[in-house]
Amino acid sequence: MDGSREGFGMFIFDNYPDRGRRLVGRPQGATARHNYGPQVAQYCGWNCAYCGRDLLTCYESWLDLQVDHVVPTYSTRDGIREDWVCDIANCVVCCAACNTFLNGYRIQEARIPSTEAEFFQLRDRVFAEKKELACKRHKEERNYWRQKTMRSVESIQVFMDNDSAFLQWVLDNPCGFVVNCYEKPSPKYLILHTAKCKTIRRLVKRDGNWVSNWTKPFIKVCSTDITQLEEWAKTQVGGELQPCGVCNKGRE
Ligand SMILES: [Zn+2]
Ligand SMILES: [Zn+2]
Repeated sequence: MDGSREGFGMFIFDNYPDRGRRLVGRPQGATARHNYGPQVAQYCGWNCAYCGRDLLTCYESWLDLQVDHVVPTYSTRDGIREDWVCDIANCVVCCAACNTFLNGYRIQEARIPSTEAEFFQLRDRVFAEKKELACKRHKEERNYWRQKTMRSVESIQVFMDNDSAFLQWVLDNPCGFVVNCYEKPSPKYLILHTAKCKTIRRLVKRDGNWVSNWTKPFIKVCSTDITQLEEWAKTQVGGELQPCGVCNKGRE
């Protein structure tokens, strides 16, 4: 099987003009997020082409939006035509992490493509190699990060009788996750929400006034990393997270 076609169901260049088999022109403008990123994303979409991360989830993810020249720009020095290398057909949207991981990538190719068709073959091969490399680096980095963070509880925050701090956390972490549970967490009630879920931030009427009761009597256990919360539920409470029917309907 062609390695470059694995992953997201279809080949990344299928949505480019002529299925990525012809030149489109150089992307215009000075910055990736404002100008040339959207010009590339109209063909390859807004997910990182290498790791699949959605770059429009929130402001922070959008900040990580970059554009990668699949056949790297330095290869013009080896004699590959500049108008091919700089074309949108050789560009994909990617995340900052993948772009960094791929900095050290070097083409193992002795032959310089002499036709556009040969260039696109090279691009596809390089894309497959880069994707494999980026995924490998993510795996290593994630393992390192897991080992480090598992030893600390810093990445989990518990809000108890402190609605304003909880509200600040959900505003600061729109991509985060929130477990709603009893003050003494029980495996019977560990509801997992996304930070954006409306049900965890409703006001209630008490003595004629609208008030918040978000962190008392129920408390909120929060993290930007869902695996931390799953681990917490398993090791600290002896249970499993139960997805909220409103915000987590699409999960699993
Ligand atoms: Zn990525
Ligand atoms: Zn919810």
